[in-house]
Amino acid sequence: MSTPQVVTRFAPSPTGYLHIGGARTALFNWLYARAKGGKFLLRIEDTDRERYTPAAAQAILDGLAWLGLEWDEEPTSQFAGAERHRAVANEMLANGSAYKCFSTKEEIEAYREQAREDGHQNPFPSPWRDADPADHPDAPFVIRLRAPREGGVAIKDMVQKKVSWAASSFDDLILLRSDGTPTYMLAVVVDDHDMGVTHVIRGDDHLINAGRQSLIYKAMGWDIPVFAHIPLIHGEDGKKLSKRHGATGVEEYAAMGYMPEAMRNYLARLGWSHGNDELFSTEQAIEWFDFNGMGKSPSRLDFKKLDNVSAHH
Ligand code: GLU
Repeated sequence: MSTPQVVTRFAPSPTGYLHIGGARTALFNWLYARAKGGKFLLRIEDTDRERYTPAAAQAILDGLAWLGLEWDEEPTSQFAGAERHRAVANEMLANGSAYKCFSTKEEIEAYREQAREDGHQNPFPSPWRDADPADHPDAPFVIRLRAPREGGVAIKDMVQKKVSWAASSFDDLILLRSDGTPTYMLAVVVDDHDMGVTHVIRGDDHLINAGRQSLIYKAMGWDIPVFAHIPLIHGEDGKKLSKRHGATGVEEYAAMGYMPEAMRNYLARLGWSHGNDELFSTEQAIEWFDFNGMGKSPSRLDFKKLDNVSAHH
């Protein structure tokens, strides 16, 4: 059996600039695809229509282009796939892995309040999970995944290694909202599957989502991609990155005169290492790149290192 071609993707939600953390995620996806002779795809996660503007998406493409991370096919729009996402939710209804839930916001809130008082965080047990469709009211509903109640859920992760959760930590997550719009959890899985993504490389703030998403893959009988959840970047003080740490947008570095080659070297070193090599060319990074060289703890911005790298490129 031949192994399928590696396909990676970068899936930013457009915010108007390419964040340094996003740039590093994109770089690792690009490096892995190039190292394996695979494809690097782009998907713009533009489902938040209140915030979305074409300029916000373009700013990300401009940042990637400046960094020299060329993508292999036309970028896709997640919003444009809503019809397909709905169709998959309906397939899941038909195959019994999802159900219509008519519980109202008030009922769910009342449950949560009671749970807080009782001191637990058990997921909302929808009374509609096992209801007979003949008893369904003519009322708005969401489509929920029928999450397993017993056993465990495990994923393969090239950075975090084997990760597993008790099935009871997952609620019957919503796939389709009552207005018919797909949730992020459903859209990501359908898009990754349809794009043939074999490796999902992203920030470790998405780790638990990989568990949730694996349930959707299983429900559809689809192959689950290999994951690589990379530790986030922190500021020099070890705290979560924010504006007060200095430049967080790639275009700010470009404006300060840093060169793309130096930025690629510096970004790759935020979390990844090849022995003690601090300085390397992009060709060397492609040759050496793998996930064994990646730690599990957050990396820190270090402007001295950037200046050092920059002086040598
Ligand atoms: N759009 C998500 C984000 O910007 C990423 C989703 C993913 O990589 O699965 O955080």
